[in-house]
Amino acid sequence: MRIPLNKKSREPLYRQIHQFLRDEIRCKALPADFRLPSSRTLSAGLGVSRITVMNAYAELESEGLVHIQPGSGTYVAPPAAYHSLPAEDGLDVHDWPIWQQELLSRTWLPARREMERLLASTVHPDPISFAGDLVAENLFPADEFRKTINAVLRRDGQQAFGYGNRAGFAPLRETIAHILAGQGIPTSPDHVLITSGSQQALSLVAQVLVQAGGSVLVESPTYIGAIDLFRSLNVRLMGVPVDEEGMRIEAVEEALKRNKPRLIYTIPAFHNPTGVCMAADRRRRLINLASRYNVPILEDDCFGDLRYDGRALPALKALDPNGCVIYVNTFSKMLMPGLRVGYLVASGPLYDRLLSCKYTCDLATSNLIQRALEAYISVGRYQAHLRRACGAYRKRRDAMVAALDAHMPEGVRWRVPKGGLCLWLRLPDGVSAIDLLPEASEEGVVYAPGSFYFPAERPESFMRLNFAPHTPERTEEGIRRLARALERYLSRRKAEEEPQRLHMGVTV
Ligand code: PMP
Repeated sequence: MRIPLNKKSREPLYRQIHQFLRDEIRCKALPADFRLPSSRTLSAGLGVSRITVMNAYAELESEGLVHIQPGSGTYVAPPAAYHSLPAEDGLDVHDWPIWQQELLSRTWLPARREMERLLASTVHPDPISFAGDLVAENLFPADEFRKTINAVLRRDGQQAFGYGNRAGFAPLRETIAHILAGQGIPTSPDHVLITSGSQQALSLVAQVLVQAGGSVLVESPTYIGAIDLFRSLNVRLMGVPVDEEGMRIEAVEEALKRNKPRLIYTIPAFHNPTGVCMAADRRRRLINLASRYNVPILEDDCFGDLRYDGRALPALKALDPNGCVIYVNTFSKMLMPGLRVGYLVASGPLYDRLLSCKYTCDLATSNLIQRALEAYISVGRYQAHLRRACGAYRKRRDAMVAALDAHMPEGVRWRVPKGGLCLWLRLPDGVSAIDLLPEASEEGVVYAPGSFYFPAERPESFMRLNFAPHTPERTEEGIRRLARALERYLSRRKAEEEPQRLHMGVTV
């Protein structure tokens, strides 16, 4: 069994082994009843001590992912054992009809739900959540949109309630093509496909281009909804590290040489979760590599217009002479997620396949909402809203940065994002965002633990903080609580370490 280990990492080796096997079991790459190699064999193969492997197996056992049969071996547990169902009407798993029980062995727990479960335990009366990747509901132009819908109903009457064109309302596709042309992405309305949010666009592309067992190259970390999507299709994820200039291109090339993925998925502008933007030269190099290795790029530009500082770089799609980029965007972040309107831009045979796939998925995206959206954009309200929202989010980001500067203890690091909705923070060495969570939630603040955003090895010292939905005052209070929790956690850890050091005869 090959487990990629980074012996220079601060992450203990047993944890790396544990995390790798945990992911493999959860995505069913290791099926129920599969016998794991003995600790002796695995330790010899990996060049680590036996105790390291035994510790990793013990962790898996404590999570119910494996069962150890003394004298026989360590076996992957059936999923029912680790998918603890919420008790419903006092029913136990075995009280469900067999077909329901069978379902348990075929399903898996998406990382997003795993994280939601972890966050659900907060009991504070007034919790502040930095855990989402949300926009601010109080900025939604609900009144204006109501008026626009009424105007559309007066104008279009019953037509607005038909299925409409399955590629999307033609004037909306024209408007989108026009907006994109203004951003240096020349396209025709015939290459625009309206989808139910950009999540559906990602899903259509994945379904058409990647078969089960195939692989997709992604940033590591990356968007949790993409990790779950690809895993749900039994697709292997090849993670490429991200630094302050985005995806590391030499690592992309290495990965492309090693193993041909079917797709490269990237979020070049205000990457979720780190907030970084891919540098201009990396964008060009990525496109060259994709053309050279004949691999399409799926560009998710979901935050592209939420820029607070600096100048916009051209989208990958704007630099793409050979048509290897499939471009995806959404009105969820720039306007309102409840509209469920996103779109993709593709050409050639792929467009037709995506259109068929869209048709089999949900026939069409809401005709009424598309008409209203088109009317809303055409009278200039969309651009005005975007300016207003960006102004508010810039202030909210600045408030978070100021609060972090003021309250965070030494050793905590973060990068100020130039756009987007979230800030990525690194805890002092050796502090796990998962371990800190109970303390934080007791203080009344929660965040998204960074480990959920990694496709394979899951470092635990990161967290993502969503500043956009909170007023500056609320953010200040939330960060103050978080800093208090961290200080408490650090002093408790120090107190726990002290007797151990004395016991080991270490003088301090
Ligand atoms: N891509 C990224 C990077 C996201 O963060 C999200 C949602 N947060 C989506 C796609 C999907 O958004 P929607 O379906 O609402 O357009």
